Amino acid sequence: MKSSIKFGSVRGIDMFVHWTFLVMLVGIFIFYVYQGLTVTAALMGVGLILAVFGCVVLHELGHAFMAREFGIPTLDITMYPIGGVARLQRMPREPKQEFLIAIAGPAVNLAIAAILFLITSLFDTSTALSAAMTPGGNILTMLMWVNLALVVFNMLPAFPMDGGRVLRAGLATRMDYRTATSVASLIGQGMAFLFAIYGIMTGLWTLPLVAVFVFMAARQEVKHVMERA
Ligand SMILES: [Zn+2]
Repeated sequence: MKSSIKFGSVRGIDMFVHWTFLVMLVGIFIFYVYQGLTVTAALMGVGLILAVFGCVVLHELGHAFMAREFGIPTLDITMYPIGGVARLQRMPREPKQEFLIAIAGPAVNLAIAAILFLITSLFDTSTALSAAMTPGGNILTMLMWVNLALVVFNMLPAFPMDGGRVLRAGLATRMDYRTATSVASLIGQGMAFLFAIYGIMTGLWTLPLVAVFVFMAARQEVKHVMERA
């Protein structure tokens, strides 16, 4: 993996960061300074992104450690600008195992948010979303909201999000794995379609782009399962 740089290893799982992530960090720093922020403020902004990066790494480790519980090793974890990927050696065969492995990631972010909530409450800092949105606001409050957003985003019932796997696992307890995959991907595609329409109507042009990505991921997942069967 030459396009990625190893930045650590936990319990034998090597962790890599893709070079595009580092380019993004430098780009954001330059953008902040260009916008008139002081170097310190720009570094703080980059620091927040690194803190989010750390939370996503813990999310991926959540998947990896739960997979290990079922005897499935993780090959590696790679961080991209859009998120992290834990590559499992094989996919779990039982719906209950898939459910627990998928839910372990968002559960980590929920736990982080709860801990940050306790810490900020202890120091009498406002935990309101408005406090997090204010420039120069409390970094822990911001991080708490980012973790909650990660939970919601990852639990959207569409592949390749964890929510898609949770949905498939739930369906697979009632029908065979292939049918469950088809139904789950249809639900995901339907949701992506609605998001795209909403994005076009409101001018949020990132939504149709994400929708196309989700659409292709759903097709990929169905193809993958059919090939394996
Ligand atoms: Zn995940």
